[in-house]
This record gives sequence, C-alpha cells and structure tokens, in this order.
Amino acid sequence: MSWESISVVFTTILYMVSSILFIRGIKLLGKADTARKGNLMSSVGMLIAVVTVLLEKNVTDTLTQPPMGNAYIWAIAAIALGSIIGAIWAKKVEMTGMPQLVALFNGFGGLSSLLVAITQYMTDKNINVFSSIALGLTIAIGAIAFTGSVVAWGKLSGKMFKKNVSIPGKNFINGLLAVIGLCGVAIYALNIAGILDMQIGSIGIGDLGIIIVTAAYLILGLTMVVAIGGGDMPVIISLLNAFSGLAAAFAGLSISNSVLVVSGCLVGTSGLILTLIMCKAMNRTLYSLLFGSFGGSAKKSASGEQKEPKSMTVEDAYLILEAASSVVFIPGYGMAVAQAQHAVKELADKLEENGAEVNFAIHPVAGRMPGHMNVLLAEANVPYEQLKTADEMNPQMSNTDVAIVIGANDVVNPSAVDDETSPLYGMPIINAYEARTVFVLKRGKGTGFSGIENPLFTNDNTVMIYGDAKQTVSSLVSEFDDA
Ligand code: NDP
Repeated sequence: MSWESISVVFTTILYMVSSILFIRGIKLLGKADTARKGNLMSSVGMLIAVVTVLLEKNVTDTLTQPPMGNAYIWAIAAIALGSIIGAIWAKKVEMTGMPQLVALFNGFGGLSSLLVAITQYMTDKNINVFSSIALGLTIAIGAIAFTGSVVAWGKLSGKMFKKNVSIPGKNFINGLLAVIGLCGVAIYALNIAGILDMQIGSIGIGDLGIIIVTAAYLILGLTMVVAIGGGDMPVIISLLNAFSGLAAAFAGLSISNSVLVVSGCLVGTSGLILTLIMCKAMNRTLYSLLFGSFGGSAKKSASGEQKEPKSMTVEDAYLILEAASSVVFIPGYGMAVAQAQHAVKELADKLEENGAEVNFAIHPVAGRMPGHMNVLLAEANVPYEQLKTADEMNPQMSNTDVAIVIGANDVVNPSAVDDETSPLYGMPIINAYEARTVFVLKRGKGTGFSGIENPLFTNDNTVMIYGDAKQTVSSLVSEFDDA
C-alpha cells in the first residue's frame, strides 16, 4: 500500500471520528445536564476535523506550493486569531447579548462558506458540473445567511434597522432576486458543462453567472430580513441558522469534503427543525414565513381612546399577594435584563410558604433566544415541574388570583388575540389578562421587541409596578420577611 493510500484511509477514519463526535455531541446537547459534555464533544470533533483538513494531501499541496508559498503560517495565524477573538468575545458577552452574538456567528458561518466557494471558483479550473452547481448554491445560501444575519444582529442589538423597513412589493422583489440568482448558478454550470461559452465585454459568461448569484443573494438576505418585524424575528433567526448549515453542506459537496457535508447537514436540519418548532409556537407556516406578508410594521394599537395605566406601590402589592392562593409568574426579556431570576425564585418560595400555589408560564419566544427563560430559571433552581407552557397554563388562568408579568410585554399582548390589524395577530400568547389581578413589573412605558403598544397595561384588572424588576421583586421579598 502506498503512503498516499494510507494517508487517504487515515484521513477518512479521522473524518468519521469527528462526524460521530458531532452527532453524539448534538444528542447530548438535547438535555440540560449533558449539554456541557455535548458541547465539549463537538468541540473535540471540530478540532480533529480542522487538523485533518490541514493534513489532507490536496490541502497540503495547495498550502505549500506556488502560488501560495508557505501558506500554513497564514492558515494557522488565521485560526489562532479567530479563536482568540471568539474566546474573548464569548467570555465578555452579557447573557442578554447572547442572541445577537449567535446571529453574528450564523452570519460568519454563511460568509465562510461563501468564501470557500469563491476561492474554489477562482482556483479550481477542472471543476465538474455537479460541483459547479453545488458551488453556485453555496454562494447563494452563504450570501443570504451572511447579509440576513448581519441585519438580524443589527435589529437584536438595536444598532441598525431598529424600525422595520417596509419594502413595497417585497415578495415580488424577493422572488425576482431569488430567480435571478438561480439563473446565475445555471449560467455558471452551463458554462462549466461547455454548453454556454461566450464573452460579455471583458467578462466570461461563467464569471458573470458567479457575479449575478453573489450580488442577487447578498441583496436578498438584506431585503428578506430588513422587513421582518412584529414578534417574528425568532423564526427568521432559526431559519438563517439552517441556511448557514445548508451553505456549509453544499460547500462540502462542492469541494468533496465529507466532514463539512455531515456538519453542515447537522446544523441545517437542526436549524430547520427549530424553525418548524418556532413556526408552530408563533402560529405561522413556513410558506407564510418565506412568501407571505410576514412580519409587519410596528405601529400603535388601533384601540380608540388612550387610557392611562394604573400603578401601585410594592407595599400595596404585597397585601394582594399575601392574600393570594394561586400565583403565576410570566417572565420575559426584562427579567433577563434585570437578572431578577434569583429574586423571583425567593419570592416564589415566600408565596409557597404562605400557602399559595405557584407556577411559571413560559412562552416559547419570551426573551431573545429559544429557551432563554428556561435557562435563567434553571440557573435559579426553579423546579422543572413549576415551568408550564402556554397550553398548560392558559386554561387555568381565569382561576388564578395574581399573574405577575416580569419584564414581559409582547408575549402577553392581547392584541395577538383580538386585534386583526396588529402585526402580532395570530401569535399565541400567555393569557395573563384572564387572571383576576395582573401585576406588570417594568421600568416605564417602553414597548417590547415588536415596538407595539400593549393594551393589557390599561385593563381594569392590571396594575403596573414601575421599577427595575430585580429591585421590585426583592422589595416584595422584604415585605414578606418583615411581616
Ligand atoms: P419584550 O421584548 O416584548 O418586552 C420586554 C419588556 O421588558 C420591555 O417592555 C421593557 O419595558 C421591560 N424591561 C426591560 N428591562 C427591564 C428591567 N430591568 N426591569 C423590568 N422590566 C424591564 O419581551 P418578551 O419576552 O415579552 O417578548 C420577547 C420578544 O422578543 C418577542 O417579540 C419575540 O418575538 C422577540 N424575539 C425573541 C427571540 C427568541 O428567540 N426568544 C429572538 C428574537 C426576538 P421597559 O423599558 O418599560 O422597562
């Protein structure tokens, strides 16, 4: 057996090992108590994959021979630089900044696949037709994932596109861009197949195809996400995550790298599954997500007269809570901002000691990432049995004495149920408004992520307790202590 064949067998085995580690890792990520192990396992898989790629023969040839010179130094320096920036960034980021970081990571995933495809297009002059189609699709999906994720990052961080931009004829424009881009892929593939061969000015027709698909899908990412508003961002973020995986899988097909195909498919399918779960949670279909009049602009509720919300002091709120026999906490993004989860757990304990039945109603898109509230409440040791879904909690809401809304807004907005003109209409909510008394803990009159006014706050059975959620909840705990 030649040294070359031994090296091929060895490389294949290492790719299989890293693929198995990815698959096992993702399985372990499914449960909170094994998630750390799963993360570590997938990281080891990634390390093995990266080292194996660098040792693969065709990569070695490319990196050590002209025109690259000794490009190993560049490759290793790039990996080191990326790892250092990633580690510092991930360490420094606040829990509330995590969603925008994840959005940006999706974008970088898409950009990497896009760059892999462009590099292959520039260097591989013997590409076959199948690989050329995969290359074109990598560019398309990588480009949409990149610009779409940058817009999502801007919206989530509040740095760009805070107001939803409404594009007249959005669906037509998006459809046109998608078709034009696919024509670019077809032109490139036909050129590679030798069917289409001509010059347009100084540009070859194949090159033109690549330029078309790159430009069309970079713009499509922007036009698709920039108009998304209301409460629909979570769905688009998981879809972009799926796109970044799909782009990697197509890049793997185009450069014949099996581990990239496996890891890309894992990210792509898990992202797609999450998208479908989110669609269900938001009462949207994948069709309406991609082609419907999705999202909508932020606007004030269409309700006639403007009522002022009533507010209450912590002391008075304590008297009502003290007499309550059933209390439901409804946490939202504001609880994450205030880091109020530990204080909330303390208050829940006090209420239970006082004889009340306590539950937590968790909306699937509360906060800024899937499972955000579950993670925070698990960190504060809230028993899993007390965490209820909207479906479990809503039927009991009318028999609940007090619903305490902690920094939640969109996920308790009744416009989703009764205002057909609202961009939130149709999204399932936690029916806090049905409780006998509703306490809303927030700092002021700020709207939620969707920017839509919430009529719950002016309902007769709602009282606002203004202030930072952690401070308000801690003061309520002190009231119980002092009693
Ligand atoms: P919202 O964003 O609707 O509302 C949060 C509220 O918290 C604000 O109205 C704010 O009001 C209040 N708040 C902020 N800081 C504090 C604080 N320190 N103390 C007390 N209150 C505070 O949150 P929800 O959880 O209800 O809804 C989540 C929204 O985010 C949905 O629209 C969802 O679609 C979207 N989204 C969710 C993602 C996910 O995956 N979960 C991802 C992307 C978007 P004030 O300023 O007056 O205090």
